[in-house]
Amino acid sequence: MIIDSHIHISIFDNNASSLQEAFDLFLQEMEKNGVRAAIIIPDNIEGSDNIADLDKAVELIGERRNLFLLGSPQIIQRGSGELEKYRKLLEEEKIKGLKFFPGHDPYYPTNERCLPYYELCQELDVLVLFHTGENSGDSVCANWNDPKYIVEIAKKYPQLKVIITHYYWPKLDYCYEITKDIPNIYFELATLADSEVIEKSGGIKKIKEILQKTISDRPNKVIFGTDWPMCKIEEHVELVKSLGLSEDVGDGVFGRNAKIIYKISS
Ligand SMILES: [Zn+2]
Repeated sequence: MIIDSHIHISIFDNNASSLQEAFDLFLQEMEKNGVRAAIIIPDNIEGSDNIADLDKAVELIGERRNLFLLGSPQIIQRGSGELEKYRKLLEEEKIKGLKFFPGHDPYYPTNERCLPYYELCQELDVLVLFHTGENSGDSVCANWNDPKYIVEIAKKYPQLKVIITHYYWPKLDYCYEITKDIPNIYFELATLADSEVIEKSGGIKKIKEILQKTISDRPNKVIFGTDWPMCKIEEHVELVKSLGLSEDVGDGVFGRNAKIIYKISS
C-alpha cells in the first residue's frame, strides 16, 4: 500500500491547462503507481488558477474518501487570526494537519504568530509539516527554515508531531545531525528523488545513506511523499525500493506510518 503524503494540484510541470485537468492527471498517476491514498497540500496563495488553494482542493476532491488535505495558514497576511477557522476544519476532520511554508514566506518557524497554531495541533494531536531547504534557483529561502528552528519548536511542544519535508536539501547531513535526538520529529521524503536535489545534495549515494540512517533510527517516523507534479512519483518509489529495507520497514515507509500519523482509517 502506498500513501503519497505530499501532492499539489497544480499545472506546473505537466500538460494540464486547468486545475481540473491537473487533478484528473493526478488520479491517473495514482492508478499507474499503485498509490492508494494521498495527502494534498493546498497552496497558501489563494484564488490562483495555477495551484489549488484549500477551497479549490475541497471542491476537486468532492466525496473521494482516499484523498486528504492539510491547511496552510497565512502567517504573513493574517498572523494568528485564522486560528478558529483552522480549529474548526481540524475538529471536523476536513483537514489532517497544518503545513507551514517558511522560506516561501519570510518568517521563521519560531515566529510567535505561529505558536498558537502549534498549540492547537498539539492539543488536537494532529501534525505540523514544515517546508525546508532551498527552492529551485533560490538558496536564500533556506535561511528561513533552518531545522535548528524546527528543533526549538519540537522541544517546546514535546507532544506535537513535527514533520520535516525535503530534508533541508542540500544540507542533509546537517539536518540529520541536528534532529537525530529529537523524538517527535518525523520525516517525509518529497523531492529527494529529484535530479536537481540529488545533484546539489552530494549525489544519490548521499541521499540513500541519509535515508537509511534516518529510517534505521526512526522506522515508524518516516513517510513517503513526492511533491507531484514538480517531481515524479515513480522516481520516489524507486528510491525507497533501492534502500534495501526489510519488507516490514518498507511497508511502514510506503504507507503504514502515514496511515497511523494521519489517522487514516480506511
Ligand atoms: Zn510541496
